[in-house]
Amino acid sequence: MQVKNTFVRIVHAHQFVLKLVWRIDKRRILLDLLERLCNVYEFLVYGALFTQILLTLAAKNMDYDQMLMIIWLGLLPRVVTRLYLLYYTNTAGPVSDVRFQEGMNKLLYEKACQVDLTCFEDSEFYNQYMMAVREAKTRVPKMLHDICNMAVSFAAALLGFYLIWRMDRYALLFIIMPILGNFVFNGMLSGRIFQLEQETIVFTRIAEYVNRTIHLADYAKEIRLSNVFSLLGSKYDSSVKSAQKVVKKLAPMNMLLFFCFQYFTFTLLFNGSFLYAGYQALVTGTIAFAELAVFQNFMCCNTWNFLFSAEAAVENIKNSFFIEQIEGFLKYKPKIPEDTDGLLPQLPIRTVTFSHVSFCYQKGRAVLKDVCLELKEGDHTALVGFNGSGKSTLIKLLLRLYDPDEGVILVNGTDIRKYNLRAYRSLFSAAFQDGRIFADTVEENILMGIHRTPEQDAETVWRALALAGMDEEVRSWEHQEQTVLTREFAKEGLVLSGGQSQKLLAARAFARDCPIAVFDEPSSALDPIAEYRLFQNILQYSGKRMLLFISHRLSSVQNADTVLFLENGRIAERGSHRELMQQGGKYASLYLKQAKNYQA
Ligand code: ADP
Repeated sequence: MQVKNTFVRIVHAHQFVLKLVWRIDKRRILLDLLERLCNVYEFLVYGALFTQILLTLAAKNMDYDQMLMIIWLGLLPRVVTRLYLLYYTNTAGPVSDVRFQEGMNKLLYEKACQVDLTCFEDSEFYNQYMMAVREAKTRVPKMLHDICNMAVSFAAALLGFYLIWRMDRYALLFIIMPILGNFVFNGMLSGRIFQLEQETIVFTRIAEYVNRTIHLADYAKEIRLSNVFSLLGSKYDSSVKSAQKVVKKLAPMNMLLFFCFQYFTFTLLFNGSFLYAGYQALVTGTIAFAELAVFQNFMCCNTWNFLFSAEAAVENIKNSFFIEQIEGFLKYKPKIPEDTDGLLPQLPIRTVTFSHVSFCYQKGRAVLKDVCLELKEGDHTALVGFNGSGKSTLIKLLLRLYDPDEGVILVNGTDIRKYNLRAYRSLFSAAFQDGRIFADTVEENILMGIHRTPEQDAETVWRALALAGMDEEVRSWEHQEQTVLTREFAKEGLVLSGGQSQKLLAARAFARDCPIAVFDEPSSALDPIAEYRLFQNILQYSGKRMLLFISHRLSSVQNADTVLFLENGRIAERGSHRELMQQGGKYASLYLKQAKNYQA
């Protein structure tokens, strides 16, 4: 049963690869087939058959000039195959490789942009994802090459067997050796190599993480100012040691299998067949001495053909395991598909309702518990609470980056899962505390790919920069809004400070004309005056829009219509600033503490 399942899986992987190649670069199938055919021609037809013809003609005392003519004629197709092989190796192959990398990368990028955010937190999925990314670009063309190799070499081997059988049928017994060597020992070895990859990927990923942090500018400060390098170093050491342990565990058996593979496939076959043919020629005299060379030629070239095809088959068993991972990743069905179609939200947005919403990232650890709230058009609502109380999570659920485990979120009375996802997300202009600046210009970092006319774009960018309190600063830069925000690719590029980055992230939100504005701690890195101005501008920008913002500085919360105080995933207090102060609860005590610190 298991063998049957494995067989079905392997066949399926072959189909998957052929479909993928057909989709990315059909020409490649023809190129690879021709390459194999040329090789077989050189090996079997030219190397063995042609030699046999020449020796036979020589034995018949053919005229020297005629022989020379035949040799020249035989050389002609060989020149053509050589030229094609040169073209394949130096032009067609590399060009197709690049096309392949591009095609595979596009598929992987598309998928990576679609998988659920939870996938990035699921280590098993992430392992599969990383293996797919690492293997996809090379493994798919390799499998295609091996499929062509298997098919063409096998056909050539059959022809060769027939020719050997005609000379000496017992010589065919030697063919059993590479069958045993390849399919049994090399097959087992392939399975163990895949096991090795699987067992070491966790450690490889840790080592890659360390490698990445050491080389990234983001971590350079901390590494220089702390002892974290030794911590990373010990992580690296222990992951390498763990990987070595796995290698050591699997090594003895792998060595034995490798020895058997080589011994049966090569040593027994070549030496055995040579001794056999020699014995037949010199002792029994059943084959002529001149035929010995031909026989040996056939044996060699045919064995190689057979080996190529068997090796390709075994390689494809190994490839299939990797292809399964790639297919698993490419066929992953996200719980929240980015192309979710559905209703188009109708403007204006009058209400946003959380009805008994609960959510956890990890089973058993609820982050939001039975949250109920309603936001109305034009409402300005502040979310406050201690770190980890669930504020950002609430916003992520509202943006449908995750779906609630229980309860429902309604916009204008409709479950948000019923809306077309793109149209739904376009209701929000959002700024996150951990938002990223991309390696592009100020303008692109604000517009984020949403362009209209150049005049309108310029107007939007400068208005957004003004609201974020950054316009004067950007005007003073040599390239103004065209300044590139990295030094990685542009010498004249600029690296923003924490506060400047935060202003730019706010400008990104201001540039969008959406009915709901969401700001998740937009001011934590700003100085008090910049912070005060930013909140004034957030309120001004929000105007009649629905606004939901998170802030730890409670002074900036006072002007909100409603304050929601979250504690351990529940809304513990709600009301206006004045009402909550009068209640004298946790919000009031937190506010008074902050105020006291400022006065002090
Ligand atoms: P707040 O914004 O109030 O500081 P968050 O909503 O960011 O809090 O986080 C609430 C809780 O959820 C925290 O305990 C945090 O550790 C956890 N959490 C946040 N993001 C994730 C995640 N991606 N995976 C697992 N746990 C998370």
